[in-house]
Parts: sequence; structure tokens; C-alpha cells
Amino acid sequence: SHVLKIENLHVSVEGKPILRGVNLEMKHGEIHALMGPNGSGKSTLGLVVAGHPGYEVTQGSITLDGVDLLAMEADGRARAGIFMAFQRPVAVPGVKMADFLRHATTNVRRPDRKEGEELIAMREFRKELKDKMQQLKMDPEFARRYVNDGFSGGEMKRAEILQLAMLQPKFAILDETDSGLDADAVRLASTSIAEIGREKMGLLIITHHDKLLEHNPPEFTHVMLGGRIVETAGMELAKELHAQGYDRIRAAYPEAD
Ligand code: ADP
Ligand code: MG
Ligand code: MG
Repeated sequence: SHVLKIENLHVSVEGKPILRGVNLEMKHGEIHALMGPNGSGKSTLGLVVAGHPGYEVTQGSITLDGVDLLAMEADGRARAGIFMAFQRPVAVPGVKMADFLRHATTNVRRPDRKEGEELIAMREFRKELKDKMQQLKMDPEFARRYVNDGFSGGEMKRAEILQLAMLQPKFAILDETDSGLDADAVRLASTSIAEIGREKMGLLIITHHDKLLEHNPPEFTHVMLGGRIVETAGMELAKELHAQGYDRIRAAYPEAD
């Protein structure tokens, strides 16, 4: 079984400390919910795990099955089995979803493939993509759209789910934060995770939608405040925070805020 381990992680942006000693351990097959008020550092944690440039790790470690992820670029981490959807994705004009997915899927399945070497066979890939899209009840036309070109919030979600289904990462970080998703998109995300098979990955879900967690009950709920995880409990903590907000947390950890 795979383990993603974050230990005493300190991260700064332009010299300003943002994460201040994060500890988090996730196993394959587990769902973890990451909650916390706006600006507490949730997205930063996801981006740092995925290897997004611009964040300086000043202390601590991130390992996947004991292998140091911090020594790898984002691309290497993706090949190692880490997935994070782009929150503010860039449009890639002229690249269709299907082609993008074929490249990404090849990279993950053949981590030692060199630039310029063959991609996974087209027929094989097309069939798998078609099957997955059918399973997820997606319009096959979607694979012919250009990546993120004019995607609505719901379509970005759909692209994320399709990547998840095709890439089959060991660990996935789903960050919901700012984008207003309509009810359909939340329903799609909620049910697709079950469809893809939660037991096949570890999931870190950053969300404000209680629907998502209702359909995908987390084993662990973590609350972040001021760049630290201040509390960890089960699903009941997510329920409490959805119902009552963060007043209790702020009062309990004034030094963190
Ligand atoms: P959350 O996702 O919990 O809302 P973020 O991780 O987005 O929180 O942000 C945590 C803090 O770090 C905020 O104060 C935010 O302004 C700051 N921050 C995050 N990324 C950057 C960045 N690239 N440059 C400057 N400040 C940043
Ligand atoms: Mg935010
Ligand atoms: Mg955020």
C-alpha cells in the first residue's frame, strides 16, 4: 500500500512564511478532507505537493513511499503518481483534450519514456478513453474540445474527473475553493469518484461542498489555520465546520490565526 507523508513542512512565498509546520500522512484508499478558513494555506499545500514552482520549502519533507518528492519537478511527481488539478488552468489552444490525455497517460504509465519516444497506441488509448467517458456518462464530443478553452466551471470539473480516471494516480488532490460550481458539477464530481474507485487512490479533498463529502465520506478531516493543521478528526468534524463555521477553531487556537 502507498503512503504519502508530509512532515514538518514549512513553505514561504517571496520570503513570507505561509505553511508553518504541516504534518499529514495519507494511505492508499483513504479520503482526507482538508478544511479551514480562506487564506489558511490549503491550496498552497496542494500546490507544493504537486511541485508548483514559486513556493520555497524552507523546512521539512514530502515523500511518496519513502521517495523524496521535493527533489523532483512537477512532471516527475506526476509520473510518480501525484495528481493535482489545475485550479486556474491555462487554455492550451490547438491541443485537444484527447491528445493532452494521451500524452499525460503515456507519461504516467511509462515513467521512463524519453521525450520523442512513442506514445501509447492510438487504438488502445481511444478505446480506453471511450470506455471511461461512457462509464462517467460524458459526451464523447468533450474529448475533441481544446484544453480549457472557454471551459465553464463544470467543464473544468469534468476535465479533472476524466484526467483522474485516465491517469489513475496514486494520490490525488482536488481543490475546490473559489470556483462556483453548479449543482450538476458537484453531483458529477461526487458520484464519479465512487465510479472511478476510491480504493484505487488516496484522495485529499479541499472543499466547501458538504455534498461532495457526503458522497465520499472522509476517514479524516483536517482543519488548517494559519498554515498549520490544528485539528484532525473524522467525518463529524467536517459536518461541524459546515454547520457552524470556524469560530470554535479560531477561539481554540488563537496563536495559530
Ligand atoms: P487557502 O487555499 O486556504 O484559501 P492559500 O493557500 O490560497 O489559502 O493562501 C494562503 C496564504 O498565502 C494567503 O495569505 C495567500 O495570500 C498567500 N499566498 C498564497 N500563494 C501566494 C503567492 N503565490 N504569492 C503571494 N502570497 C500567496
Ligand atoms: Mg482561497
Ligand atoms: Mg484555496
